Amino acid sequence: MSLIVQKFGGTSVKDLDSIRYVAKKVMMARKQGHDLVVVVSAMGHETDRLEKLATNLCAHPHPREMDVLLSTGEQVSIALLSMALVDIGCPAKSYMGFQVPIQTDSQFNKARIVAIDEENIRRDLKAGFVVVVAGFQGVDENGDITTLGRGGSDTTAVALAARLEADECQIYTDVDGVYTTDPRTVPDARRMSCVTFEEMLELSSLGANVLQIRAVEFAGKYNVPLRVLSTFVEGPGTLITYEDNNMEHAVVSGIAFSRDEAKLIVRGVPDVPGVAAKILMPISDANIEVDMIIQNLGDDGTTDFTFTVHRRDYDQALKILKAVAKEMKAKSVVGDTKIAKVSLVGVGMRSHAGIASTMFKILGQEGINIQLISTSEIKVSVVMDEKYLELGVRALHDAFELHKAPVQEEYPSRIRA
Ligand code: ADP
Ligand code: ASP
Ligand code: MG
Repeated sequence: MSLIVQKFGGTSVKDLDSIRYVAKKVMMARKQGHDLVVVVSAMGHETDRLEKLATNLCAHPHPREMDVLLSTGEQVSIALLSMALVDIGCPAKSYMGFQVPIQTDSQFNKARIVAIDEENIRRDLKAGFVVVVAGFQGVDENGDITTLGRGGSDTTAVALAARLEADECQIYTDVDGVYTTDPRTVPDARRMSCVTFEEMLELSSLGANVLQIRAVEFAGKYNVPLRVLSTFVEGPGTLITYEDNNMEHAVVSGIAFSRDEAKLIVRGVPDVPGVAAKILMPISDANIEVDMIIQNLGDDGTTDFTFTVHRRDYDQALKILKAVAKEMKAKSVVGDTKIAKVSLVGVGMRSHAGIASTMFKILGQEGINIQLISTSEIKVSVVMDEKYLELGVRALHDAFELHKAPVQEEYPSRIRA
């Protein structure tokens, strides 16, 4: 008998009909003889609604209280799903994060899981229950409720699968797998039958929110068989795999994009040693993550220093920079929040030169100006004006022929009935 961890996202439990449908699906898997731990997210856009309630009430909601508030979304859905299961004759028991308990560190709003006690879950599974666990939350060593960052239910599911040594962790969502790019933006995007952990890490970190990046990290680290599937359409989904040397790789596997960035430029900075640190230290001291960085060569003893941050950190970063610029006698600080980042990802890039220049050529042909570039072994990212995002992604998807399937077998499952 296999142990499966199934996770159902917000759209899969958005209303009572969907919850009834999910209950039937879980019951069917149970009838096939599997032990099941089911992780659920809050219903539909409930987390957005709760977040808005808090930010409408006060500009900077207290992080601890924010987590007390946000964790209620999942409390509703675990209770409803468990009731629906019991109602159709499938014994089920719900657990909040702190009841499992899922121990986290104390970073409210973006806590990390540090340990999971499996005793309660094991006992209930043995007694024949389906165990329904609230995603996205845990408890810290002080007994305070924490949440794991948006999309965090994926991480709850993978962490539970790792702890319980599950045969598979199945992430059920509103798409039937991981696509070559977001199918909402490019209708002829193609489902991949498998994608490597390395590629999925890049795709997730560069904007493909189909899996939270920490979930992918966890699965890679603990060797969790991870599959993304549709709740409503039957199919094999996408398996996240280790790289296999015999696998035929497309050079470019997928395109990720993000509107979450903002650009800041410090103009006319004295071009002397230590400048980058002077500008970026106060930014990192404020816990703001910096993504791309460019320092131009100056010819009059000054230089322009450009970098990007998450859009939510823009106002704070701008304020900090204005103070730094004054102190450094830089000419000015300017910013732009209407930018987007588009990235090509593929392990095949390791052995193929020229992908970046082809990308630049395609964007140039579309009249899209590239503002910033960064590359690594398996990805190329560019920043452009936000208004060209869709055009750029579609042109690249077309030019790299990502709609065409490489010859690839479906990957076998480890699940035993
Ligand atoms: P859930 O609520 O189930 O967690 P999410 O909204 O977090 O669902 O993730 C699913 C969404 O991710 C899809 O509806 C799709 O628009 C988006 N997405 C972005 N990039 C991709 C991709 N490469 N493949 C599949 N879906 C993607
Ligand atoms: N409900 C949380 C969110 O909307 C967690 C999740 O859905 O994964 O981000
Ligand atoms: Mg999600």
